[in-house]
Amino acid sequence: MSAQQIEDQGIELWQVKAECRGPQSEVFFPPPQFERKVDRLQRERRAKRICDQCAVMDQCLAYSLSIREPHGIWGGLNEHERKSLLEFAALN
Ligand code: SF4
Repeated sequence: MSAQQIEDQGIELWQVKAECRGPQSEVFFPPPQFERKVDRLQRERRAKRICDQCAVMDQCLAYSLSIREPHGIWGGLNEHERKSLLEFAALN
């Protein structure tokens, strides 16, 4: 796929290199049904291990912060961690 085709589909270039593309993407967001805290923590740990191997973690985190993404693991952080980062940045 060319860079132009990627842009035409509304995909950011860094997203093509995302480690979370494919079947493992389900661990990055909570399931539609109730999720126990212990299950959420395990799921988030699995997702963060994938993020640790990802070549575009910085771009992903910057993007999620720029759009104030309210759900899921992005750039190795969950929504609460990203919110704290934004609040800290706003104070400094
Ligand atoms: S940092 Fe994590 S959430 Fe972001 S693209 Fe990489 S694997 Fe996916």
